[in-house]
This record gives sequence, C-alpha cells and structure tokens, in this order.
Amino acid sequence: MMFKYFDRPEVFSGLKTEATTCDCCLQEKYCFDANFFSGTEDISSICPECLGSGKLLDKHIFSCSGDMTELIRQLKELHPSLTDSEIEKIAEEKTNELEKTTPYLVTWQEWDWPCADGDYCRFIGFGSRPLYNSLATTTSGEELFRNSFYYNLKDDSDIDYLWQDVLPDEEVKDYNDSNEMSTLFYVFKSLNSEKIVTIWDCE
Ligand SMILES: [Zn+2]
Repeated sequence: MMFKYFDRPEVFSGLKTEATTCDCCLQEKYCFDANFFSGTEDISSICPECLGSGKLLDKHIFSCSGDMTELIRQLKELHPSLTDSEIEKIAEEKTNELEKTTPYLVTWQEWDWPCADGDYCRFIGFGSRPLYNSLATTTSGEELFRNSFYYNLKDDSDIDYLWQDVLPDEEVKDYNDSNEMSTLFYVFKSLNSEKIVTIWDCE
C-alpha cells in the first residue's frame, strides 16, 4: 500500500476490520473508515486503491489539512524567480493532492500537516527513543529529536523534558500501540531530503 504522504497506513492508521462497500468503486473491500474525513460530501468507506488513485480529488472531502502558508513561504525561498501566482498554483496543487489522497491520521488535537523543502512531508511513524536513535545518522537521537520540532512548536515545547520523561522508551509499533498513549509524537520525513519533522500533542 503506497501513499506519497503516508508510510504504511495499514500499520499506522488501519483498515476497517470487516470488508465493506467502498463508496467510490462500490466493491466489497477492506476500506479506510472515511467517517473522520471532513468536507461537505459524506462517505463512510473508501478503499486504499480509490483513495490512492485520486478518486476524491474532485470531491469536497479532505482527510487532513495542509500547512499551506508555510509551504508557500518555502516555495518562494526555493524558487525566487517564480511569480506569486505561480507559487500559489504549485502550493494549491500539492495541498489538494495531500488533503485528498492521504489516509487519515488519528491525532489528539487538530493541527496542519507539516511541510519541508517545498513539499508536504511523509508521515513515517509514532515517535519513540528507538525510532529517533535509528533515524539519527550524523547526530545522536536526542539531537535529532531536538532539531526536528516543527517551527510552530519549538518555542512552546520543553524539549529536554519531553525527551527525558515523556518520549516512550519502547517503539510505538502501530495504531493500537498509539491508541494506548495520551501524548503522541508524530514523525514525518521530507520527500526531498533526510530532514525529519516532529509534531506532538496530547489528550
Ligand atoms: Zn474503492
């Protein structure tokens, strides 16, 4: 199951436990629960194939909300020769693709999907010490954790405390594991570099 902005959703998000009718292709399949999706159109089930192939692109249904303001800022920095309307067009296309082809990520709070290097990031898992340690190649896991906080969380997060006392010692392997925790770290990776981005929230 391949999605541009969401690694292994079958593990980190999960499908309905029984086959249901996909509201797009009308086949009996193991589907994502689309009741969480927002927008004016209502669907309750969508199969991975329909979601991934863009069957929602022309519908008013969203599985998440992208941080388009920051995306525009990054795109302008990367492409200083493009006009504002060219930048806006690229940002809108990427945001539309993100919001309508990405599986739903269950979170405690509502926040915007992060971006890096001029595109939205891919969600790669729930944060834990072992995960940061394994992702750290040139620095320590702690250093990586510290540097990965998304720009809008850096000032308000006590990162030392979070690393020492809150970040799980054990891997958070799947959706069921994440469901047991009242504080979660969501780990994202840039599509264009090794950059890691962390967002965290709590119950
Ligand atoms: Zn389908």
